[in-house]
Amino acid sequence: MDLQALLDDLAKEAAPFAAQGKVADYIPALAAVDPSRFGIALATVDGAVYGHGDWREPFSIQSVSKAFSLALVLARDGEALWRRVGREPSGNPFNSLVQLEYEKGIPRNPFINAGALILIDRLLSLTGDSLGTLREFLRTESGNPAVDVDREVAASEAAHGHRNAALAHFMASCGNLENPVERVLDHYFRQCSLTMSCADLARAGLFLANHGLGADGSRLLTRSEAKRINSIMLTCGTYDAAGDFAYRVGLPGKSGVGGGILAVLPGRGVLCVWSPALDTHGNSVAGVEALDRFTTRTGWSVF
Ligand code: GLU
Repeated sequence: MDLQALLDDLAKEAAPFAAQGKVADYIPALAAVDPSRFGIALATVDGAVYGHGDWREPFSIQSVSKAFSLALVLARDGEALWRRVGREPSGNPFNSLVQLEYEKGIPRNPFINAGALILIDRLLSLTGDSLGTLREFLRTESGNPAVDVDREVAASEAAHGHRNAALAHFMASCGNLENPVERVLDHYFRQCSLTMSCADLARAGLFLANHGLGADGSRLLTRSEAKRINSIMLTCGTYDAAGDFAYRVGLPGKSGVGGGILAVLPGRGVLCVWSPALDTHGNSVAGVEALDRFTTRTGWSVF
């Protein structure tokens, strides 16, 4: 299969769908991004990387980062994590407060904001520096030492982070936070504000396609842990539209409100697509469209 030609075609077909979406504006620094940007990259387990459009352009990875923090916590803490966070789809918006109160401060899954705050809290306890640990991991696995936080986006998140602060304070009141709220939020905002390109993210995610083996061949996760992370990505990785994403794309995926989506093709590679205009759930409209067309054309889904 000519993968480069395929990405070129998909980009042409999917990019116009961005007109149906809207750039996230609840974080002012994200609202300034040009909605017509479009990039797609495919990194394969045999080391090749294909790309089209803005695939080398860094963007705000936002919640795509949460797939990586889950990997870092699971690798260190194993099953103990599941005492503090669930692994069921939430069916609610990613920053919803109601469900957390009903469920006594135990977030439904690690990918909604409350769950991601738990991951960061745990990684802080385990390493003393959650953001630093994640950034180092992403630099190593992507092969790009320049991966870093966009300070303007981080400041914008912090200034408008009232809902995240409410989630963190509520979990603290339930005894489900080990570190001070302000510290957890600081690491959370900076984590969401990491910038990476489609090529960086596709390379960095390869351990998920490679059954837990990192870029240098070392084992980062057991085969079973890699499977579990992919499973949670499939059921919970694309907000309260994970069912629709699974129906259309048929791959584990993690999206972010910066417009990025990382999708894992187990045993084959990782696709990353970036188009900033989002649907009402928070998923990139043209991004989902491109992934849908990719699996339909290649038959490379997990089903
Ligand atoms: N920083 C964003 C927030 O906390 C992340 C949201 C996302 O990408 O899902 O609202």
